[in-house]
Amino acid sequence: MAENTSAPRSVLITGGNRGIGLAIARAFEANGDKVAITYRSGDVPEGLFGVKADVTDAASIDEAFTAVEAAHGPVEVLVANAGVTRDTLLLRMSEEDFTSVIDTNLTGAFRVIKRASKGMIRLRKGRVVLISSVVGLYGSPGQINYAASKSGLIGIARSLTRELGSRGITANVVAPGFINTDMTAELPEETRKSYLSGIPAGRFAEAEEVAGVVRWVASDEAAYISGAVIPVDGGLGMGH
Ligand code: NDP
Repeated sequence: MAENTSAPRSVLITGGNRGIGLAIARAFEANGDKVAITYRSGDVPEGLFGVKADVTDAASIDEAFTAVEAAHGPVEVLVANAGVTRDTLLLRMSEEDFTSVIDTNLTGAFRVIKRASKGMIRLRKGRVVLISSVVGLYGSPGQINYAASKSGLIGIARSLTRELGSRGITANVVAPGFINTDMTAELPEETRKSYLSGIPAGRFAEAEEVAGVVRWVASDEAAYISGAVIPVDGGLGMGH
């Protein structure tokens, strides 16, 4: 991939301590950017600047941003990646199952974007990338809460594009299909098989395959792309 001429930028990835978030962090690091990640527990992966934050808590987000700004300058690239699942069929899904997933995946993204936008407006440039899911577009039984949270991110990206597009800020959605991480490792074998049969590529993907797309959509090369939904799903959603 072509080197990004505007590096080093201050990049922040929520939930960047493992899985897709960590792969995204490594991709920006390889680009020469100053990379910070949020984590809740455990250790900060080697070489990365880690700040503790829970995206359900606006105060902890504010503290994390303040620390990143002091170390790396205002956040120019924000990747809202932190996400959870709490799968169960509608009739068994409690209101808590629903609202807790929305609070992390959707309201959490709103909180970090709101905090990041101040600095981006001042800089008159910025890149917001929201990690959605093929499930947000396609639907999935047992994932009404998750699908609602992930399709909601599209509304955020498109409204943000309309609000801040004239300030050099882009907002895009990357919608992964099935990626080998802790999240999909939890799937029962039968479910994995049935998902696999619907994927034209005939395989799940590695987190790095999502990371490269995120890095590109945050690059100078993608400056005129905003409000887009970019699938990384082996053809599962047929471009949607
Ligand atoms: P993982 O379960 O491996 O990692 C989830 C990350 O989110 C962890 O870093 C976790 O932190 C963080 N996180 C969860 N809740 C919070 C919170 N309240 N505050 C801060 N951080 C939090 O998931 P993946 O890497 O697989 O997924 C990353 C993103 O990609 C998610 O948004 C997911 O929905 C999306 N996605 C994943 C797909 C897949 O197939 N794997 C497919 C499509 C989308 P901690 O380590 O502290 O728990």
